[in-house]
Amino acid sequence: MKILMVTSEALPYAKTGGLADMVSSLSIALAKLGHDVRIVIPRYYPIDKTSLTPLPGALGVPMGGIEEWSAVYEERLPGSTAKKPVQVYFIDHEIYFGRDGIYGIPSQPDFIDNPRRFSFFCKAAFQLCRKIEWYPDVVHAHDWPAAMATVYQKFAERAPVAGGQIPGGFERAVSILTIHNLGYQGVYSKANFDYTGLGWDVYFRANFDDWDMMNFLKAGIFNADKLNTVSPNYAEETKTQAQGFRLDGDLRQRSKDYLGILNGIDTSIWNPAKDKYLGEKFSVENMAGKAKAKAALQKYFGLEVNPKVPVIGMITRLAGQKGVGELFGPNYGSAFSFCRDFALQFVLLGSGESWCEKEVAGLSARLTNFRAQIGYSEELSHLIEAGSDFFLMPSRYEPCGLNQMYSLAYGTLPIVRRTGGLVDTVENYDEKTGSGTGFMFDILDPSSIYNTIGWAMHAWYNLPEHIAEMRIRAMKQDFSWEKSAKKYVEMYQSAISALPAAGA
Ligand code: ADP
Repeated sequence: MKILMVTSEALPYAKTGGLADMVSSLSIALAKLGHDVRIVIPRYYPIDKTSLTPLPGALGVPMGGIEEWSAVYEERLPGSTAKKPVQVYFIDHEIYFGRDGIYGIPSQPDFIDNPRRFSFFCKAAFQLCRKIEWYPDVVHAHDWPAAMATVYQKFAERAPVAGGQIPGGFERAVSILTIHNLGYQGVYSKANFDYTGLGWDVYFRANFDDWDMMNFLKAGIFNADKLNTVSPNYAEETKTQAQGFRLDGDLRQRSKDYLGILNGIDTSIWNPAKDKYLGEKFSVENMAGKAKAKAALQKYFGLEVNPKVPVIGMITRLAGQKGVGELFGPNYGSAFSFCRDFALQFVLLGSGESWCEKEVAGLSARLTNFRAQIGYSEELSHLIEAGSDFFLMPSRYEPCGLNQMYSLAYGTLPIVRRTGGLVDTVENYDEKTGSGTGFMFDILDPSSIYNTIGWAMHAWYNLPEHIAEMRIRAMKQDFSWEKSAKKYVEMYQSAISALPAAGA
């Protein structure tokens, strides 16, 4: 199959969250299964184009009565092989993408022209295929910035050009939408619809309208041939009013075509036996490297280097979704209390909402056993996963979550809220039998976090044999991409077989 990934993020080029990891690893896994996978992504300013190969000529993109022009660059995705390459195309439009920030900057978190930027990008994806004369069987759009691709596909590209005399090339292509996070929908003034170049009848036929606003994700939900989200449990949750972010009814309407497919992890990067950031690698057979990583982590953060004191790690966007209000909220957050009351160390790597960055800095000044680094660091994230004993994810909602899977692979036991993909990946500890791979709680409030950490500390200090067994069990879990990539192939195939017969 020929598969085009349309995405606003992909590793190693642009990342704000798990979407970037997923697109690149899924693409590589699909290529390994023998498919021709290509990625199209904007050429954001920080992506150095001097190291890329320019495609000859410019790309014309018809947008709302005018034609816009961009350059295109390409390269093979790092991590894919020359035999099973994943080709990446960069849409280089200076005005839309030649600036800092993917979706925004701190002073303007959501660029005012995002609807225009990403509509242009989605239209450009189709024009790119024409330019390189490569027509996909599957157009796979990710999240709201790419959702417009499903609309162009259905209302503009699938129809043969000029009454069928000129083949459009996309008649037999299907569109897929993956929802990585229902909390981000791309809702803007509908005045922006003019930029899409589509007639206003399409605005209503494609179901953009959301209380008089234009909702990109909603349109994607209605127009993709098939859609999915990134874990089976989150797929169910999103169909409920509690977790549906107002789109639960729409998702229920599409439930026949709406699946949950668990993300995998890139085991060439997240593997304690191969991790390039670790001084000494480790595995189930030889755990000495984990103890070394713990000592290195304690040292890095200036904490007492002591194997007996458990280290809890956390790597996160500092956003409400991740439970940071309940952890660090002034006057009520639980982090202060559990750090004060339990013999543990807590290390955090993250960045995000400024109130939270400030609270975290204040807390590390008041406590001797809490240390935080504000910012983004791949290298440190590997050390935290490897060197911690426990990993905290008190998420409000979690479409899949990658960090708990990384943690399990590194024998670092997750302490998580029972939500979304965390339910599909972590098995709760049973004190009677010692079974499980982590510690779970239901209600997101400071006392539940406090009590669950207390429970994990009880196991650490009083039942160390359980902790050791859980570690090994966690490390033996298989979260590689191969299984999930096959499920995507099945979804693609079922969308293709649902197309009306050629000529019908
Ligand atoms: P989300 O996509 O909702 O942010 P996920 O757990 O699915 O959450 O993916 C987050 C990814 O981003 C993980 O790979 C995590 O390690 C990484 N990450 C988040 N914040 C940081 C940070 N400050 N430094 C390094 N990696 C980070």
